[in-house]
Amino acid sequence: MMEGKAALKQLAPYQQGKQIQEIKQMYNLDRIVKLSSNENPYGYSDKVKQFLNEYIPSFDIYPDGYTKELRSVLAAKLNAQETELVFGSGSEEIVQMICRTFLYEGVNTVMATPTFPQYKHNAIIEGAEVKEIPTVEGYHDLPAMLAAIDKKTNVVWLCSPNNPTGNPMAKQEFIQFMDNCPDNVLVVLDEAYYEYVDPNKDIQAINEINNYQNLIVLRTFSKAYGLAGLRIGYGIANEAIVTQLNIVRGPFNTTSIAQQIALVALEDDDFIQDTKAKNLEVKLSFQQFLHDIDWGYYPSETNFMLVSTPNSGTELFEYLIQHGFIVRPGELLGIPNTIRLTLGLKEDMERFQQLLVSYNKS
Ligand SMILES: *Cc1c(COP(=O)(O)O)cnc(C)c1O
Repeated sequence: MMEGKAALKQLAPYQQGKQIQEIKQMYNLDRIVKLSSNENPYGYSDKVKQFLNEYIPSFDIYPDGYTKELRSVLAAKLNAQETELVFGSGSEEIVQMICRTFLYEGVNTVMATPTFPQYKHNAIIEGAEVKEIPTVEGYHDLPAMLAAIDKKTNVVWLCSPNNPTGNPMAKQEFIQFMDNCPDNVLVVLDEAYYEYVDPNKDIQAINEINNYQNLIVLRTFSKAYGLAGLRIGYGIANEAIVTQLNIVRGPFNTTSIAQQIALVALEDDDFIQDTKAKNLEVKLSFQQFLHDIDWGYYPSETNFMLVSTPNSGTELFEYLIQHGFIVRPGELLGIPNTIRLTLGLKEDMERFQQLLVSYNKS
């Protein structure tokens, strides 16, 4: 039998949740509300829909590996240089590219726990040692993360707002961290939920790319833009970092259609604003509900919430799935006795709340 890298023995393939069709059959349900992966419950821009009605793809031709058109538009929008952008098949692929570029046996990497699991997964594949620093009430413990950095540290992962807690990082603390972090350590700031963050709480991290040569910011079209199935995300960093990532990147890693649609999606800021406003309304009303039933939750600047549950999160997960709602049990995310749920449509959230009330009584 062929043996892969030794590190693979510690890992397992990504276990995705059950597919909607499967659950429908299993529990004899007509409709399933998927609140487990933080997709946009409002879908995506009508401009994208319109575009798709008229778009005649030429799938016979390789995509533009440089992503030139999208690159120009995005650079202008972000007030960045075109050479400061790198594209991936989702920001997840950029996580993978960062690990492949900067991690190997003998070096280590520092991250929070719990946080987005793909940092650790890919770091282990590259043979790096992983140093995990527990969050404090869901917030990154930045002083402890700084203290964990040593001569062998190559990459530090920051996720703001953090997944699975939803907590945002304060700008001042981020700046303080960057000022004290050695400049030969790459700092990855994953902003997958950037569009949801209250502007008063936003780090404005892209503006710091010029101040810190060792910073890369990750963004995605999968969450607020509602294009998770399209697989496109990007990183912003100084050219020296981007050039190295581009060596590792597959030459045609984003599809032609993903590039085109991302361009159209970028034109529709109203859609993002609308999503954001609806999400905020649902969030505030759900938080009020949680107060009323006396359940705790983590502060969130995203389209999901981590909620404390009276018993195990897995138990509530089982109850909810039988009634047509899929959430993520905290036991799978490293925070027992919680569930993480995407904030859904208003009417679905009302039904969801009724279920929590019934669950509380049972
Ligand atoms: C969803 C998510 C991603 C991955 O997004 P893709 O662009 O779809 O790969 C990255 N980081 C965090 C924190 C996420 O929640």
